[in-house]
Amino acid sequence: MDTTEVIPQAAPHLRIAHFAAEVREKLGAVAASAHYILGPEVASFEASFASYCGTAHCAGVASGTDALAIALRAVGVRPGDEVVTVSMTASATAMAILQIGARPVFVDVDRRTRCMDVSLVDSVISERTSAIVPVHLHGYPVDMPSLMHVASRRGLAVVEDCAQAHGASIGDRRVGSFGHAGAFSFYPTKNLGGIGDGGAIVTSDPETARKVRALRQYGWADERRISAEAGYNSRLDEIQAGVLNVLLPHLDRENADRREIAARYREGFAALEAENIVSLASESTGCVNHQFAIEVDHRAGVQQWLRSRRRVLTAVHYAVPAHRQPAFEDGCRTPLPVTDRLAERFLSLPIQSEAVAGREHEVIEGVIEAVRSCARS
Ligand SMILES: *Cc1c(COP(=O)(O)O)cnc(C)c1O
Repeated sequence: MDTTEVIPQAAPHLRIAHFAAEVREKLGAVAASAHYILGPEVASFEASFASYCGTAHCAGVASGTDALAIALRAVGVRPGDEVVTVSMTASATAMAILQIGARPVFVDVDRRTRCMDVSLVDSVISERTSAIVPVHLHGYPVDMPSLMHVASRRGLAVVEDCAQAHGASIGDRRVGSFGHAGAFSFYPTKNLGGIGDGGAIVTSDPETARKVRALRQYGWADERRISAEAGYNSRLDEIQAGVLNVLLPHLDRENADRREIAARYREGFAALEAENIVSLASESTGCVNHQFAIEVDHRAGVQQWLRSRRRVLTAVHYAVPAHRQPAFEDGCRTPLPVTDRLAERFLSLPIQSEAVAGREHEVIEGVIEAVRSCARS
């Protein structure tokens, strides 16, 4: 590869290019088929993805945001309810809660996992709380056994936001299988992503699965097509499902590649970490490294330096956490110091194998040089 070429932060088109022949064949087959909506590609993907996640059911929907909103309604969250979640996440997490008339209430994240600090959940639960939405941020699995313990003690439903964590695990169990339901996104940049929008809900509860299937399609309760409640038009389409059927068998290998790149980064940053110049997430064997975010001072300078001198592109996930956005401000009951600090210091490096494999050294070397030079200036 030409080493003067830019290293992109994420490059979903390179992954699609890698499977170009299979994808093209699949798109042709869908176009030639008589089934464009909820056809055989969706049915086959749902069966494979449920089995991959270790759940009894999977229902494809139009996006990760819809997956969260529909799952929350299916597990019984009603307008006016409060839902405990984190602010250090994509706005979609809180937006899905708002969309169904409920209120997101935020708890801070743990400094080392960057995920929900489970020990703080009890302190924000009120008599209106009906559910908890943990987010497996950057592919890092939340401590689900502890969270499920809190939820069952308080009688709350749990919907896991797995949009960044396809295949992440705790022990031999995959995320999405711990809560009452798990919500996934197949947005192109995710660990498993299509060539457009898509999402899915996984659950092992047959009643939740039934409700989800009704809600995604006009509230139709059964094949008589009679609407029983306000539903959506939110279906995974055959084209996306076809592409996902091509990619799913390769997900574990791609996640292993991400882990390997993360391990190279960790090794490379060990000295900076020891000097407290760069902070990394604590290690987790079940993490699937959707992002590899380092914490640095002088982020803008480091980012600019890397772009202009090394042609390494980075990204910030997320500069303005949900509780600092007008739509969600009133969900902030307690200060969120860790979230605020991470929001100022996070910098996501390239981690997708098609973007960076074999060039980790360039990135690490560049980051070290950039951090040192920005600290001096
Ligand atoms: C991407 C993402 C979503 C939303 O998914 P869409 O498919 O874009 O609607 C929700 N939560 C998190 C944590 C995400 O990263």
